Amino acid sequence: MDHFHQVAGVLHAEDVPLPRIAAEVGTPVYVYSRATLTRHARVFRDALSVLPSARIAFAVKSNPNLAVLKVLAAEGYGADVVSVGEMERALAAGMAPDSIVFSGVGKTEAEMARALEAGCGQFNLESEEEGLELAEIARRLGKTAACALRVNPDVDAGTHGKISTGKAENKFGVPYDRAAAIYARLSQTEGLQMRALALHIGSQLSKLEPLEAAFTKVGALMQDIRAAGYSVTHMDLGGGIGVPYKAGEVFPQPEEYAAMVARVTGNWGVTLMFEPGRVITGNTGVLVTRVVRVKEGATNPWVVVDAAMNDLARPALYDAWHDFAAVEPTGETFTANIVGPICESSDTFAMAREIDSVKRGDLAVFRTAGAYGATMANTYNSRPLVPEVMVDGDKWAVVADRIEPATILAAERVPDWLA
Ligand SMILES: *Cc1c(COP(=O)(O)O)cnc(C)c1O
Repeated sequence: MDHFHQVAGVLHAEDVPLPRIAAEVGTPVYVYSRATLTRHARVFRDALSVLPSARIAFAVKSNPNLAVLKVLAAEGYGADVVSVGEMERALAAGMAPDSIVFSGVGKTEAEMARALEAGCGQFNLESEEEGLELAEIARRLGKTAACALRVNPDVDAGTHGKISTGKAENKFGVPYDRAAAIYARLSQTEGLQMRALALHIGSQLSKLEPLEAAFTKVGALMQDIRAAGYSVTHMDLGGGIGVPYKAGEVFPQPEEYAAMVARVTGNWGVTLMFEPGRVITGNTGVLVTRVVRVKEGATNPWVVVDAAMNDLARPALYDAWHDFAAVEPTGETFTANIVGPICESSDTFAMAREIDSVKRGDLAVFRTAGAYGATMANTYNSRPLVPEVMVDGDKWAVVADRIEPATILAAERVPDWLA
């Protein structure tokens, strides 16, 4: 459910007509609905309230906008971060350092030191080597790092290959059959306080079964580790629940997810941690774009829009689908290809799709663009960095400026020996 809807034939974000934002900010522009964001945050949190002890760390990488993080901080969310840059954002949004989980396979020494100094709540270690390095830094700084060991459960998440992370051949975590020994060694390493296992098997999961299989596997591992005499007080179950990108698709509901977690983890006796990203932010945003022109094609017309793969990379990266809708639909439809202006054939949003009829100058949206949208944007083809707007009832504000090519050009230097 979201708060993007038609009012008198014009698509609105909550109470604000999208043409008003487009007129004042220009296009392309991401528009987020605060009411949708708050609602998703609450639905997920409330669903988990059936569990004895749950903490939620929002996966910042799905939407790191400061205003978005502020809303989630107010809803009691911590953060799952994969770089110091993301950690600084979470702190800037007012999230408690203790509520921050530092994930990622390539944390640098400088990042680990900064996170220790900031009081980061948990490091999710992806290897024994990383644990030993972190321990050394912690000892040097006179700190103890609370840690989880990320396990690769070798479960197929059944999602797109490029967003699968829990198969043995993926780079993430330590191999399942070596995890107990590594946990034991790291538990005996001064500077670390091993407290959890962590897993995250992939993103945009459409079924609960792979998650259930993975949770069951790491639950057994947890019991082995305890039987060997080591402490496990937390378990980090990651994120990964998918959202419908096409009208009519059905995905696991937070209550179904929570019921499955309760069933699997009932006797674990731990604090459970969760790292949802897309399920919180996916439906909270649309990318508003304007049709540059409609060009005749060999089979179907090409609808050339002013948004491109640099603004919304998912279709080019993962063949992802985003519903496309006219802001002021006429009721007519046609079959067309939707493309951006970038000089790459991968700058394609849809081929041979039946869409609202649009013509030059019309506004349209790509839906479900709140997760892995603006955050993946870049300036390829010397295009501006796309701006972001948040709507709250009848209020709205620019929450990330458009960065113009001139600003980027101003950061480039011609060395003396070329002048
Ligand atoms: C990306 C990621 C998440 C969030 O994934 P979603 O599919 O957006 O829920 C959670 N944890 C880790 C470690 C991640 O890398």
